[in-house]
Amino acid sequence: QCEGGFGRAISRTFPLPDIERYYEIGRVIGDGNFAVVRECRRRDNRQTLALKIVERSKLLGREHMMQNELSLLGSLCHPRIVRLFAHYHTHSHSYLVMELVSGGDLFEAISERGKFSEAEAGLMVSDMSEALNYIHCKSIVHRDLKPENLLVGIMVSAVLKLGDFGLAMVVTEPVFTICGTPTYVAPEILFETGYGVAVDIWALGVILYILLCGFPPFRSRDRDQEELFQLIKQGQLHFPSPYWDLISEEARGLVRALLQPDPTVRLTAEQTLLHPWVKAMTSVCRQRALTDKTQRNTGHMGAEPERVQRPDQTNAKPCLNQRNRFKRI
Ligand code: ADP
Ligand code: MG
Repeated sequence: QCEGGFGRAISRTFPLPDIERYYEIGRVIGDGNFAVVRECRRRDNRQTLALKIVERSKLLGREHMMQNELSLLGSLCHPRIVRLFAHYHTHSHSYLVMELVSGGDLFEAISERGKFSEAEAGLMVSDMSEALNYIHCKSIVHRDLKPENLLVGIMVSAVLKLGDFGLAMVVTEPVFTICGTPTYVAPEILFETGYGVAVDIWALGVILYILLCGFPPFRSRDRDQEELFQLIKQGQLHFPSPYWDLISEEARGLVRALLQPDPTVRLTAEQTLLHPWVKAMTSVCRQRALTDKTQRNTGHMGAEPERVQRPDQTNAKPCLNQRNRFKRI
């Protein structure tokens, strides 16, 4: 159940000084392709929140992205999806008042940690699948699932919350628009044969692969987008040694089932939640988090020692692309 009594997000249009009358605007906590996100606090009840500020001139020709985010995200209410409480608009900017998710985003976590244990990765897959199952049941496709758009919340253990609904839409028939972020884009988007919610599951597969080994499944040596797209369309999945040597067959099996080129055979979010490896890893992690005394107040992602020894850094390990490096297509 959603707290706060907000049904749909509240919308108002008024000049900036009025926003500052209601909110204290604080430090920058994130940025993306279009927005700057700042911490903010309601002056009346001192509640801390996140304020996503979008310069409208940056959206020229893509105003529908803001509209999507407002109408779709404003109607959603799920513990694995960031809440949108209200939005305000001036002639030049839009302000989205959101739940503050204070542990950074998954891109930062991957940059710090390199990779994650199977237990942690399984728990994250479960979080993402819960969010996807909820939106897919409403025929909403996110279309930009990637670590930068997954926020890390601090509960007993870390939880992921899906954000950035700028490319989300309701799908009632196959979609043909090519969009997304190249590393995470599904083959059926590139084949232009029409796609649906299964593109989010492909992106989930790419993220799981990265969580387990630290680099993406399809990568162009020269960061050439066309070459990357060719590799995605060929769909040949490799688990290179030594990086995958210690990773279980069950985990690889799930990666294969998510990165299944044929979207009609690819797992659904609901099936992913029921996958034996996900269920096993989730229960290991939850059990561990509850009994871990060292985690007091800081239940963060760095709590677990690395299981796999880091391979020799000198033998050029592939790596994750720079944050938001590839613009959305
Ligand atoms: P863009 O549409 O420009 O990509 P995002 O909604 O993805 O904007 O936000 C940019 C970044 O700001 C995210 O990658 C994340 O690091 C941070 N961020 C976004 N929303 C929140 C939030 N509610 N709480 C904390 N950090 C957030
Ligand atoms: Mg983003």
